[in-house]
Amino acid sequence: MADQKGILMVLSGFSGAGKGTLVKGLLRKYDNYALSVSMTTRAPREGERDGVEYFFTDTRHFEETIEQDGLIEYALYCGNYYGTPKAYVEEQMAAGRNVILEIELQGALKIKEKFPESLLIFVTPPSADELKRRLEKRGTESPEVIARRLARAAEESEGIEAYDYIVVNDELEACVEEIHRLVDAARRAPVRNTKFINQIREELQGFAKGEE
Ligand code: 5GP
Repeated sequence: MADQKGILMVLSGFSGAGKGTLVKGLLRKYDNYALSVSMTTRAPREGERDGVEYFFTDTRHFEETIEQDGLIEYALYCGNYYGTPKAYVEEQMAAGRNVILEIELQGALKIKEKFPESLLIFVTPPSADELKRRLEKRGTESPEVIARRLARAAEESEGIEAYDYIVVNDELEACVEEIHRLVDAARRAPVRNTKFINQIREELQGFAKGEE
């Protein structure tokens, strides 16, 4: 019954909440998800590859892409630009896949404004202590960067109410399932099935006319 178009879904959460692992879980388990690869001016972390985790670029190219209307949203986060390239998202949604945007609060708000039928999910660890522990365990960032990310998390916690759902990432597999169920349910909302609704409505009106 659902319209063939996929859902545009935003997955946000504090840095260290485990969004990356969750996304990998969703992609591994189900074939109707696609992950949008963002463009950023941040330097690659060890092991990150251009075109896989991000498209790494410089400020000049990023600003040119903004001017050419090549991004559906972008934001400045901890001193770097991050943005979502437009073409891939449009292609994948048209192919019926649910497109995952792993982006932060400002971007999520822009997406909701531009695409009211998008689905906004906020992922959080069970506690602030657990978040700190995960950031430290990652070992890829200096204490200053970790402190900056924790301060940012405190700011971002103010924006949680803007999301449609909040999911606690305690046990990975359970969390993947929970997100999938939310997406599946969202696909059944009337706002995401306007084509079907209009069609059945027209057909019913046709019958009703025939009765007159
Ligand atoms: P990180 O540097 O840890 O990879 O990402 C920092 C933050 O930027 C994360 O919260 C991540 O979700 C967010 N982010 C990644 N890509 C985008 C994007 O395309 N747009 C926006 N608005 N945020 C992004």
